[in-house]
Amino acid sequence: MEFSERTIKVIIDDKKCVGCKTHACAAACKLYSRGILIIKDGKPVLGGDAAYAERVGTECLACEYECWFRGTRRLRSRRRFRDWMNIEKNTESSDFGF
Ligand code: SF4
Repeated sequence: MEFSERTIKVIIDDKKCVGCKTHACAAACKLYSRGILIIKDGKPVLGGDAAYAERVGTECLACEYECWFRGTRRLRSRRRFRDWMNIEKNTESSDFGF
């Protein structure tokens, strides 16, 4: 799954989240930000629609830090200016590690 906030895009390889025992991304989102990430059926999902995430998200990236520190490293973020600059076409998906 993926969603955008104002200047970032968050990408989660959620097929592999089912084996995550901490779900640290959602816990961090609730603790440090506005709780836009929740866990449903063992996977992180948005608590609202895409417009909600873009409007309410604070871009704190606590989800990314906690996934790397306590989860199974399935979450990445990137700055949306890469989209605006159309750099994505020249970027290998391996830049994100999955
Ligand atoms: S912490 Fe990482 S691996 Fe665990 S549910 Fe969240 S995104 Fe998936």
